[in-house]
Amino acid sequence: MNNCIFCNIASGEMPSDIVYQDDKIVAFSDINPCSPVHVLVVPKEHVKSLDQVNDFALVSELMRCCVDLAKKLGLNEGYRVVVNTGVAGGQTVEHLHFHLLGGRNLAWPPG
Ligand code: 5GP
Ligand code: ZN
Repeated sequence: MNNCIFCNIASGEMPSDIVYQDDKIVAFSDINPCSPVHVLVVPKEHVKSLDQVNDFALVSELMRCCVDLAKKLGLNEGYRVVVNTGVAGGQTVEHLHFHLLGGRNLAWPPG
């Protein structure tokens, strides 16, 4: 998908602050962070949203990556993982991504 921002970040065509990558996943800093740590954990394969996932092993790998990164980034006091899904869910980029948020006390409910 060459018109997809996150595909372009995953391929390296578009620059980003990459904090982790392997053969299936890339994680990079959000361009408009909501918290001191705001990382997007993304499959390199184009999947439109959580709603379009066929193989939930991928979701497990993305979630595991969030947990590993939270440790690596020192989020010892806690963190939040968010997957906005669809228009009403607040999804603005149509490529599956997990938000890893932390580094401050996060309000709940989020509003
Ligand atoms: P969504 O609203 O779809 O759940 O989240 C999309 C996120 O992608 C937003 O937090 C937004 O700031 C981030 N974002 C959008 N475009 C770019 C970009 O070009 N680079 C990076 N690093 N983040 C982006
Ligand atoms: Zn994509």
